[in-house]
Amino acid sequence: MNKAVLVFSGGQDSTTCLIRAKETFDEIHCITFDYGQRHRQEIEIAQQIAKALHVTSHKVMDVSLLNELAISSLTRDNIPVKHELDSNGLPNSFVPGRNILFLTLAGIYAYQLNASTIITGVCETDFSGYPDCRNEFVKEMNRAINSGMDSFIHIETPLMWLNKAETWALADKYGQLDFVVNQTLTCYNGIIGSGCGDCPACHLREKGLTEYLNNKGAIQAALNQKLTD
Ligand code: ZN
Repeated sequence: MNKAVLVFSGGQDSTTCLIRAKETFDEIHCITFDYGQRHRQEIEIAQQIAKALHVTSHKVMDVSLLNELAISSLTRDNIPVKHELDSNGLPNSFVPGRNILFLTLAGIYAYQLNASTIITGVCETDFSGYPDCRNEFVKEMNRAINSGMDSFIHIETPLMWLNKAETWALADKYGQLDFVVNQTLTCYNGIIGSGCGDCPACHLREKGLTEYLNNKGAIQAALNQKLTD
């Protein structure tokens, strides 16, 4: 039995990973982390998507401790999301330790389920400036998880080298472009689909979609090239 644990936020990226994983895995166990995030609606939306796409199981894990410890515009309502970077070179939406915690918990869950794979939609290209989305970080976490549990779990990052336009092309490849456009939530202000149109997440999403729709053939070719590399 080919089992995967999928870190699932209900956004464009993790939903596209889920659509792709359905082609390969017999069982997909999604986990959504509740850390009191600004975009609270994402938990409800993740539940709807998990149901619509018939995943094996969907677990919402309470990690509110992260909200208490990590200060960010995503965890504090009184800190507005800024477009420009902070003096440390990071966006103020960066939640320190988030993916360290999430992958650790996903690792424990995968171990208990006897799942061979953890899937996460992190991406180094079209980089939002988060150090815990880099390939190097994921590789290191993967080593730490296996070393700490004497396991052979593989962390899969299907979007690592794709830009946003190519991620849209990937959803389209599986015939799910409209589903991802309309049913997912990426917006920091918690608005489903095309979102508020103003926050950095909406900008990135919209820019990638416009790029894809204006140049489908070339972007599909670039995607296929990357998938076969
Ligand atoms: Zn938005």
